[in-house]
Amino acid sequence: MTRLPTILVSHGAPTLAIHDGESHRFLKGWGRSLGKPAAILVLSAHYDTDRATVTTAETPETIYDFRGFPDELYDTAYPAPGSVALARRVADLLHSAGIGAREDEARGLDHGAWVPLMLMYPDADVPVVQLSIASARGADYHLRLGRALATLADEDVLVVGSGSAAHNLGLVLSPDRPEEPPPWTVEFNEWLADALRAGAVDDLVDYRAKGPHARENHPTEEHYFPLLAALGAAGPDATGERVHTSYTYGALSMDAYEFRPNGRRAS
Ligand code: ZN
Repeated sequence: MTRLPTILVSHGAPTLAIHDGESHRFLKGWGRSLGKPAAILVLSAHYDTDRATVTTAETPETIYDFRGFPDELYDTAYPAPGSVALARRVADLLHSAGIGAREDEARGLDHGAWVPLMLMYPDADVPVVQLSIASARGADYHLRLGRALATLADEDVLVVGSGSAAHNLGLVLSPDRPEEPPPWTVEFNEWLADALRAGAVDDLVDYRAKGPHARENHPTEEHYFPLLAALGAAGPDATGERVHTSYTYGALSMDAYEFRPNGRRAS
C-alpha cells in the first residue's frame, strides 16, 4: 500500500458545499485523485477545545454550526459513519505521545469536516472521525499533535486539516470587503506556499513572527493550526505541495496542500 499524503483543505464559507466555483470543482476532483481511504480523520478549525478530544459517535450527525445561510444548506446532510476503532487508535497514539485524549460520543461533524468531504467523497461511505484542535495551546502543540499521528497515513487513514491558508473573517464580513485579495493577504499566502515547499517547519510554527502580515491574515489562530497538525502528521521531514490556489469572499484563501515525508511526490 502506498502511503497517503496528509492534506490541508481551506474550507471557506459553508456555501462552498452548494455554490459552484473554482475550489468547489477542485475538491470534487481531488477526492477522486486521492482515492478512497479506509477512514478519514479531520482536524477542523471549528472543533476547538481545551484539550485533545476525539469523536466516537457511530453515526455522527451533521452539525449546522453557522447562521444566516441559504435553507438548502440546512437540508444537506453528510451521513458518513463514524469509526470507534479509528477513534481508539488516535487516542492510543496520543496517550503514547504524552498528549492524551478525551472521547466525545455525542459530537457530530462540523461544517469544517462535512462541507469539504461531501464534495470530495459524495457517497459518504468512508468512516469519519474528528479530533479537536486546542487553539489556546499554541502552534508547537499542533505540530506535536500531528506528529503523534504520523503512522496513520501508512494505515490508509486520510488525515485532513481543515482550516484556511489565510482567514481574515473580519474583513470578509466588513462593508469594506475587497473584490480582490489585498496585497498583504497574497504576500502571506505565497510565503506560506514557499515555506511549506521548503519544509521550513520552524518558520511555520513561528509564523506570527516569520510570516508577513500573519496577524492580519489570522487574527485568531484556529484556522491556521489545522495546517500544522496535518503537516506534522506527514512526518518529521515533511514538505507541502500546493495543489490548488484561489480566493473567495475577497480575502479568504482557498489553497489546498498535500504533505509528504521528504517531499516525496505521488507515484
Ligand atoms: Zn471556518
